[in-house]
Amino acid sequence: MTLVMKFGGTSVGSAQAMRETAVLIKNSQKQWGQTVAIVSAMGSKPVKVTDLLLQGAHSAANGDGETYQQLADQLRQIHYEAIDGLLAPDGERQQILAENGRFIDRFADLCKAVCVLGELSPRALDTVGGMGEQMSARILAAHLRQNGTPAEAIDATELIVTDSNFQNATPRFDLTKQKTVSRIRPLLAQGIVPIVTGFIAANADGITTTLGRGGSDYTGAILGEALAADEVWIWTDVDGVMTADPRLVPNAQSIPQLSYREVSELAFYGAKVLHPKTMRPCVENGIPLRIKNTFNPEHPGTVIVPDAPNGNGGIKAVTAIKNLSLITVEGKGMMGIPGIAARTFGAVARDNQSVLLISQASSEQSICFAAPDEATNSIIASLEAEFKVELERKDVDRIWAHEPVSIVTIVGAGMRGTPGISGRIFTALGAEKVNAIAIAQGSSECSISVVVDDADTATAVAQIHDLI
Ligand code: ADP
Ligand code: ASP
Ligand code: MG
Repeated sequence: MTLVMKFGGTSVGSAQAMRETAVLIKNSQKQWGQTVAIVSAMGSKPVKVTDLLLQGAHSAANGDGETYQQLADQLRQIHYEAIDGLLAPDGERQQILAENGRFIDRFADLCKAVCVLGELSPRALDTVGGMGEQMSARILAAHLRQNGTPAEAIDATELIVTDSNFQNATPRFDLTKQKTVSRIRPLLAQGIVPIVTGFIAANADGITTTLGRGGSDYTGAILGEALAADEVWIWTDVDGVMTADPRLVPNAQSIPQLSYREVSELAFYGAKVLHPKTMRPCVENGIPLRIKNTFNPEHPGTVIVPDAPNGNGGIKAVTAIKNLSLITVEGKGMMGIPGIAARTFGAVARDNQSVLLISQASSEQSICFAAPDEATNSIIASLEAEFKVELERKDVDRIWAHEPVSIVTIVGAGMRGTPGISGRIFTALGAEKVNAIAIAQGSSECSISVVVDDADTATAVAQIHDLI
């Protein structure tokens, strides 16, 4: 039996957390026979190593020659403390310290180059941003070896082949499967636990790419698929997927079972607990996915299955994405012009922006969609260029943005065919005077999304959470 387990930033965030993670790996090795572990960069909240690395690169690009040096010291300290707490002086300590030191020196060298050139490419960001995983994997593997579990740190650049879309690369499955099987299977056969870096991969030329922020979850699913694993487990710092973000709603509860569809909606609409791309490799290969708490391993957490039982009244969870803008194209003359929607979204796509929600009035007098706040100006400029003639003719009256807004999404497969759900949602929002600016229902009827003023987000989420 093969189990793929991914450990998030907090699960490797300190010497103590790594010790607990190592125990989980050791136990799983006994129970499952073959275990592959994937690790994120160290991330004891609120300091995440990946954030520090990227911050260093960005500050250097702005001509700041000092911040990255301070960050290098901070990175040295964080990793030194972990190594000091985990590795005995007469063992591999010196070697791992030296290896980590080399990554941090390289970080500082790259930042220096960026500072001199005044230019930071997505490719350089991936090289710098991925170093956290390379360091944590080496520390954890050495700690496991020291405690009698054979383990080897492996950079996923050796396993996962992607396109060259730096910062958000897409894996090429056949090549990934070949490389992963030929590198990992022999280790598993010898009883060695591969400790693989999450987040990073490489293009066909071997240049480091990354799978997008939070992408280590996706690494877990990719390797699960490549190795035809029996299960994929995501270890984090909460008891599975909860009815709401526990930081926003303190009485949020863990959800025992969710369907792939439900959890995909939650992840897409902001529930940070799982990267939205994680589900696809698991669904397509029927691999069960579990989310569990490293700091409370006895808790069953959440299991993601093809069809989960319907929850109470249909609503299972509520989530939100903040800092968005709602962009509207409106005009009385739009009714007669064919292809307005296609042209609108064509212009947005050419601008390389993605749209999170769309709502169109039936008379076609307006079409509106939500996009990240920071993309507003560039999207409006693209739309104004696209509809230049229509704007001059006043067929399109205006293109404007309402910002900042957030999308609050209510998820539950049981909402399908349960009458009155929308009524309860809008009554709950109305009771606290939260205005619904736009509404969209997922075609699967497994989610309803409501756009509200950003300032109303917490109230809206709390009101809807009370309905669960
Ligand atoms: P990791 O480093 O383990 O990947 P993340 O910080 O990426 O951890 O994701 C876990 C965090 O996601 C939790 O600590 C919690 O604050 C947040 N979160 C947001 N929404 C939810 C939700 N619906 N259920 C559980 N956690 C959530
Ligand atoms: N370390 C990466 C990030 O912070 C990937 C991850 O944690 O999943 O985005
Ligand atoms: Mg995460």
